Amino acid sequence: MRAPDGDGARELSAAPPKVCGMGSSSLGSVPPSGPTVVEASAGPAGPGSADAPVALAVPAVPIIGSLSPSRAGDFMTCPLRYRFRVIDRLPEPPSPAATRGTVVHTVLERLFDLPPAERTLPAAAALVEPAWNELAAREPAAAAMFDGAEALGSWLGSARDLLDGYFALEDPTRLRPAARELYVEHVLDSGLRLRGYVDRLDEAGTATGPALRVVDYKTGRSPGPAFESSAMFQMKFYALLLFHVRGVVPRELRLYYLGDRTWLRASPDQADLAATERKLTALWAAITRARESGQFRASPSRLCDWCDHKSRCPAFGGTPPPMPELAAAGPGVAEEPTVAVCEADG
Ligand code: SF4
Repeated sequence: MRAPDGDGARELSAAPPKVCGMGSSSLGSVPPSGPTVVEASAGPAGPGSADAPVALAVPAVPIIGSLSPSRAGDFMTCPLRYRFRVIDRLPEPPSPAATRGTVVHTVLERLFDLPPAERTLPAAAALVEPAWNELAAREPAAAAMFDGAEALGSWLGSARDLLDGYFALEDPTRLRPAARELYVEHVLDSGLRLRGYVDRLDEAGTATGPALRVVDYKTGRSPGPAFESSAMFQMKFYALLLFHVRGVVPRELRLYYLGDRTWLRASPDQADLAATERKLTALWAAITRARESGQFRASPSRLCDWCDHKSRCPAFGGTPPPMPELAAAGPGVAEEPTVAVCEADG
């Protein structure tokens, strides 16, 4: 459902740590009471920050593979692109759009380190350059994208424009997020590990238990009506993870599109999450078949314009490299590579 302007969240609670769940629960049965967790580290950072304590769980079943919302989306839109990214692990050079997404996400995370009254647009804009400088120091290839101070200045200005878009949608002075950049992981009974980073989790205490709102920022433009449900699939993926880890169906899923200053939202129920889990299970079965057969179909779409692998894609006259040897990874196992920067639309 497309919503007009944001109404902001007001209620909060103490932040949970980063959490990982383990299999043995299933939708359709009693919700899990929560994962077995071990405090792995205790950082000095405030509640919900990326440096908050990390909770680890030991999976009860052998891991057969991993899926994140982004890679699940890759396979659904183009199985060959999934192969290039996950199996071939072909490098993808940084792009201004993807790097801007990373910087804006960093700023929106750090914005909530400030006292509520200080979370203003000028304050957010002032966080852009430090976030960029840190990223550039970490990623020399990103720093090399800009040919001179003028190009960099214009790009930094476009990041500030996106933050302007954020403030048009929401008033952060009214919020106290329970968590930001929250890593959530759960291993299904099948051994498939689901994982992802939730941009922001808002939590309110209610008479019937905690009410969760999952928030994700996109720095691109909103999808057309025909693509809204696939955009929301990523949010249901997060909702499914949180259901398994927290035992609560999130009350609201909210996707902010800073590029055109609009947002989508949905209120899932347990049946939605059960359907999402079935879809992910079927998706993993399709990925496994493709791995066993070596057949990853190219599926051209408008997304090809942002694909780094056109030159090796048969749909554009290219030839994929030979499939890499999979034996080292074990049968059926596909570990996703670490993603250094956000997706172009992320
Ligand atoms: S160019 Fe298009 S069809 Fe080819 S791999 Fe990339 S997304 Fe798929």
